[in-house]
Amino acid sequence: MEDIIASRLSHVRASLPEGVTLVAVSKTHPAEAIRQAYEAGQRIFGESRPQELCAKYEMLPHDIAWHMIGHLQTNKVRSIAPFVALIQSVDSERLATTIQREAARCGRRIDILLEIHVAQEQTKTGWVADELLEYARAESFAAMPNIRVRGVMGIATNTDDETVVRRDFEALHRCFVELRPYFGEEFDTLSMGMSDDYPLAVECGSTMVRVGSRIFGERDYSEK
Ligand SMILES: *Cc1c(COP(=O)(O)O)cnc(C)c1O
Repeated sequence: MEDIIASRLSHVRASLPEGVTLVAVSKTHPAEAIRQAYEAGQRIFGESRPQELCAKYEMLPHDIAWHMIGHLQTNKVRSIAPFVALIQSVDSERLATTIQREAARCGRRIDILLEIHVAQEQTKTGWVADELLEYARAESFAAMPNIRVRGVMGIATNTDDETVVRRDFEALHRCFVELRPYFGEEFDTLSMGMSDDYPLAVECGSTMVRVGSRIFGERDYSEK
């Protein structure tokens, strides 16, 4: 198992151009699997549940940068605020306000990404692009000194139709470019691309890919 994770990891790394950050999505996988990726040099991991994230943070080396990538309820922000490196899934003003408050409370400045809804599935969360643009224009973020908006995140439609996936990635890229002037230099991250579509995402301008099953193998949700 050790060798499999290390070799999958190096395979994914080798396929990424310079300047594209790899987030190893470790949700549902045990700390032992994360440790193997860690020993192979990986330092950025993504989790989608606060409770699981906190448990793994406790168990594993503290130079790991933990990214929250799943839907985050406001009442769970406090548990991850002291250590989380990047919250990728900020999908509402209310959540941003909560992160601001909790970050201030523990004397931190927390990096966030704004999650944009582009996929055709109704279930996916995130801002509608136009709403977000309006929000950015209002410059409400200027009043949140403990938040640093680093960019946007999005998930493409779950389909084999490459035309549809490409269209989603291009829409995300467009949003990223349109929003940049409101946030400045530090707005440098476009997080898009997962195991099945990250090469296409990179082609469309992704600067950060979130890869799970291609590194850790298939997820088994049945035990959770
Ligand atoms: C699970 C998850 C991923 C990784 O998915 P894989 O298909 O296993 O690479 C990426 N991004 C988000 C938001 C996820 O929830």
